[in-house]
Amino acid sequence: MSEVRYRPDRLVATLDAILRRSGSPAEEAAIVAANLVEADARGHASHGVCQIAVYTRSLELGHLQPDRHARIIRDEAPFLVVDGDVGYGQVIALEATDLAIERAKAGGACILALRNAHHIGRVGSYGEQCIDAGLIGLFFVNVVSRPLAAPHGGGRPRLGTNPVCIAVPGTPGYAPFLLDFATSAIAANKCRIKASLGAEVEDGLLLDPEGRPTRDPGVMFTEPTGAILPFGGHKGYGLALACEILAGALAGGLPALPENLRPGRVVNNALAFIIDPNRVAGPEWQTLTDAVLDHVADTPPAPGSDGVSIPGEPEALHRMTAMDRGIALDPDTVAALHRIGGGLGLDVKALLEG
Ligand code: NAD
Repeated sequence: MSEVRYRPDRLVATLDAILRRSGSPAEEAAIVAANLVEADARGHASHGVCQIAVYTRSLELGHLQPDRHARIIRDEAPFLVVDGDVGYGQVIALEATDLAIERAKAGGACILALRNAHHIGRVGSYGEQCIDAGLIGLFFVNVVSRPLAAPHGGGRPRLGTNPVCIAVPGTPGYAPFLLDFATSAIAANKCRIKASLGAEVEDGLLLDPEGRPTRDPGVMFTEPTGAILPFGGHKGYGLALACEILAGALAGGLPALPENLRPGRVVNNALAFIIDPNRVAGPEWQTLTDAVLDHVADTPPAPGSDGVSIPGEPEALHRMTAMDRGIALDPDTVAALHRIGGGLGLDVKALLEG
């Protein structure tokens, strides 16, 4: 089945209406709706509109609480410890990052431990908050939900897709550097979207329930499930494990161990380092960064390749197209919007079409 494109503002309005009918105050609904649509616009549909189905189920199960805010547990420079009380991760992480940014501006750096937020979505959005404030942000995140990723050399899932994000403000010559990815070879929801489109994934991404290589994304939705391999073999696995230690055990006190899992619950914890680059070095850091990026961006393209990009560029390009041509949604996501919105008494067709 082919994809249909929707205007971003109509998608925001649709999600906003669903979230408000589901118990969110207006400000929360606006933040979550905008964040999810922005993820689609930037090419990460896995963390966009489709998540509304996960959030609705979490609400029903009592694993997600509307109208929660970042609650400071400890505020002792350079450390800031914040609890999310399983509120909407987009609100909790945004507020926690704002608090950490204030402290990094005052003191030069802040180490933020964010615990117990419901799914925070695209981690890059918090990197963008740091960039907008002229700060560098490094985020290590763990995912407390059913295990999806196999450790390097393992045949069964033991870890989450534990994302990492490194954000650096733009320089005179370049747009911001925004590296933001799951440490698994493919984000879990990208498997769901592929499965819903009846497509296979590339080689080297998935194992079936017996630990054998497969291209069938459906193995992630069977019982027992298959597993996603780490990206880059032992290196991605090492980063995923680092996220579990830094964000899960240290910052969150909630690693993804079997005793911490609940069916249908997705919690994110994060350890973030927010740094004022101008307190580390003089303004020459920008000139030197430009020189590095010039040197790398100027690499002759490999035969058959599109040439070298700087992390963050693909998302910026995708966003331009999405704003111009609209956002494509997979059929399962469209069906979920109609099912969820309809169940709340909304006219989803009218909302989507404006
Ligand atoms: P991905 O594999 O598409 O990688 C994206 C990163 O790679 C971006 O920084 C992008 O700019 C860069 N990139 C892509 N192509 C490039 C190229 N040709 N040259 C240079 N850089 C390039 O991302 P992903 O692993 O699918 O993750 C998608 C999203 O999922 C991320 O936003 C991540 O934060 C999010 N995520 C969230 C959770 C959670 O629990 N909240 C879990 C996993 C992933």
